[in-house]
Amino acid sequence: MQILLKGGTVVSGDGCRETDILIQDEKIQAIGQDLAVDADEIIDVTGRFLFPGFIDAHTHFDLHVAGTVTADDFASGTQAALAGGTTAIVDFATQYQGETLEEGIANWHKKADGKASCDYGFHLAITDWNSQASADVPKIMEDGVTSFKLYLTYDTMVNDEELYEILVRLRETGGIVGVHCENDGVIKALVKAEKAAGHNAVSCHPKTRPAAMEAEAVARLLKIARVAEAPVIVVHLSTKEGLTEILRARKDWNQEVYVETCPQYLLMDDSRYQLPGFEGARYVIAPPLRKPADQEALWKALSDGEIQTVSTDHCSFTLKQKELGLSDFTKIPGGMPGVETRPLLMYTYGVCEGRITLPQMCRQLAENPAKLYGMFPQKGVLAPGSDADITVLNPNAETVLTAAGQVQHVDYAPFEGRKMKAKVEKVFLRGTLAAENGKVTREGLGRYIKRGRYQKTEG
Ligand SMILES: [Zn+2]
Repeated sequence: MQILLKGGTVVSGDGCRETDILIQDEKIQAIGQDLAVDADEIIDVTGRFLFPGFIDAHTHFDLHVAGTVTADDFASGTQAALAGGTTAIVDFATQYQGETLEEGIANWHKKADGKASCDYGFHLAITDWNSQASADVPKIMEDGVTSFKLYLTYDTMVNDEELYEILVRLRETGGIVGVHCENDGVIKALVKAEKAAGHNAVSCHPKTRPAAMEAEAVARLLKIARVAEAPVIVVHLSTKEGLTEILRARKDWNQEVYVETCPQYLLMDDSRYQLPGFEGARYVIAPPLRKPADQEALWKALSDGEIQTVSTDHCSFTLKQKELGLSDFTKIPGGMPGVETRPLLMYTYGVCEGRITLPQMCRQLAENPAKLYGMFPQKGVLAPGSDADITVLNPNAETVLTAAGQVQHVDYAPFEGRKMKAKVEKVFLRGTLAAENGKVTREGLGRYIKRGRYQKTEG
């Protein structure tokens, strides 16, 4: 089966050019001007931007949190991804206490098997580090799980000794780790103090997780990684102060550190926690939303190439689930939806407002995550031999974000009513047209991606 996409503007990490794309079955066969072939189907995409299918390297589907389970599982979550132009996600499998690394991965395969509508891989969160886990790392990597996750807070956290040992082990095996950076002890103390004062409202949430405690954890991670001589990724960076630590480590020590941020940290601030009643609970995430100055610093870092990837930390709960914390802000399930809306948000507020360019958007949402997480050039680029994952964006159409119109299984939309300056018109997953105009047209085509080792990645 051959499909010819004619007349579009192909976006890559290097630039944009008007050129045709020929798809042969699951792969891109050729790219070039005026490809004269008798394709089975010719689709006119004049005036559209053609991106490599976007990759969201930070989702939590079917995750048990705070006595409940996320509203999106691998079925609805990957449908939402696909509808919004994301053709691959990397979700976080967790090795819980008492489990082997392999058991952690196996549990996530069970959650995803046969359900996915976009391609998917797993990072593995290590929470129980021991000699067996250390011995198992190479096997895990052979199975295509080449990136890991560590928490410096929550009951899944590792201590400094474990953090150091894991960094050394991953350096030896060619793995890489993304780290949730917040100081656990001080957050606990601040929570205790709020509760002792009888404060239980949503507005306490950001107070107990101050910017300095992200920066402290970032700095500690980077210093330990320097001693371990290991590259690291700081996930969901939210603060200017944390960014400052990263820039310093790169400048002073030439350290290899990658950074991810998320649309919510670029586009919302902590005034949302002051909304009337319980409305602020919708935005309870960790790290919390920050100040406008933090947003500006993160946008500038994206523009300067200091932040490599934008993912979502999609971790969705319904309003009913959020009410678990109605009388205690620490019991609000933390997380927000986002997997469906990231491309349009970054296009509208990034590209259209001149903060990032189209090639930068391509790098941050597709090419860089593909490289960093071992999927390049199978994914993350439109080139002969690559998977025909193609997202067709129409910049002459609009999309209004609403809860009623979304695919993700959540009864609120964080950006309710916002007008996006484009439409995700067509999404091809490995050569099959699988979503059109924000709706999935072919379900269940997603496959597990066995990933390779990370590649060094520029901004
Ligand atoms: Zn997360």
